[in-house]
Amino acid sequence: MVYFVGAGPGAPDLITVRGQKLVSLADVVIYAGSLVNPEILKGTREGCRLYNSAYMTLEEVTAVMAEAEREEKTTVRLHTGDPCLYGAVREQMDILDRENIPYEVCPGVSSFCGAAAALNMEYTLPSVSQSVVITRMAGRTPVPDRESIASFAAHKAVMVIFLSAGMTGKLSEELLSGGYDRDTPAAIVYKATWPEEKTVLCTVGTLEEKAREHNIRKTALIIVGDSVSQTLYERSRLYDPDFTTEYRRGKD
Ligand code: SAH
Repeated sequence: MVYFVGAGPGAPDLITVRGQKLVSLADVVIYAGSLVNPEILKGTREGCRLYNSAYMTLEEVTAVMAEAEREEKTTVRLHTGDPCLYGAVREQMDILDRENIPYEVCPGVSSFCGAAAALNMEYTLPSVSQSVVITRMAGRTPVPDRESIASFAAHKAVMVIFLSAGMTGKLSEELLSGGYDRDTPAAIVYKATWPEEKTVLCTVGTLEEKAREHNIRKTALIIVGDSVSQTLYERSRLYDPDFTTEYRRGKD
């Protein structure tokens, strides 16, 4: 059996209880060494075989899984954050399907949640934004044209931009060309929930300057939109004393 486990955004105690249990039972752990906190590996049992996938190809990773399966061992594939975002899990699953190896996913806390926590931020403020766009700039992995940053910017919904901290100049340009003002609030969150976490508040126009000033080029999220300022929102209806809900009678 192979378990794809979300390791969380960084802090070792932000893996789920289920994820931690799977790590402690595994015979083989293949972890994404570039971003998974090595502290989590201390929870493996003695004799557990550890592989850092940063040095491996897809075929090498799945060969390790297949060998473990032949030996009737349990494998944990540890991905950073939650495996469903930029985790390159589908291609592993397809190979496991072809080889009839069963697998299951254990979700994790994505870094976009870790970053919101670092900023004490609610992405979905009433009357400011009720949608979160999770996207990235094109890098070695292309982004379909219809999903350009500019096209998403036109919605003025809050955007969380992954994998793009090294391209803040180009990112600003695309956000501006899509209709964001230069002074739209933005934030750069570096290594959310790690001890070296850094949060930098800026604007769409100053993203590049601030990233350079703080020497941030990777392992960061860029958050853009009026929600970042956490002001000018309307109170929720859910907790409004005047409103009756399924669980509570309103005053009037
Ligand atoms: N599956 C992961 C994302 C993997 S892609 C998740 O759910 O978070 C790797 C990118 O995620 C990094 O380039 C960076 O943009 C972001 N990232 C991962 N961990 C981060 C953290 N602790 N703080 C800020 N950004 C992070």
